Amino acid sequence: MQLHVDLQRCRGHGQCVIAAPHVLRIGTRGQSTLINESLTDSFIDEARDAELLCPEEAISLTSDSDPAPLLPPPAVSLEN
Ligand code: SF4
Repeated sequence: MQLHVDLQRCRGHGQCVIAAPHVLRIGTRGQSTLINESLTDSFIDEARDAELLCPEEAISLTSDSDPAPLLPPPAVSLEN
């Protein structure tokens, strides 16, 4: 499992840190940051809670077996 924090979305509310104190902390820039890059099994539940509680949807938890995101379809020209 991998946890990702989207810093473009993070507003530093800190709910994630309360939910996952062994996984996340507020960094020097006032945004959520990972304490440890490797997410051990014992902290998966904390990470899930943080993902659910973030009001900005800035946290995503993905499985190593999740498929790669799909690319958008190619643009289609309507000109003749
Ligand atoms: S709850 Fe979301 S927006 Fe708030 S600090 Fe955590 S990741 Fe950032």
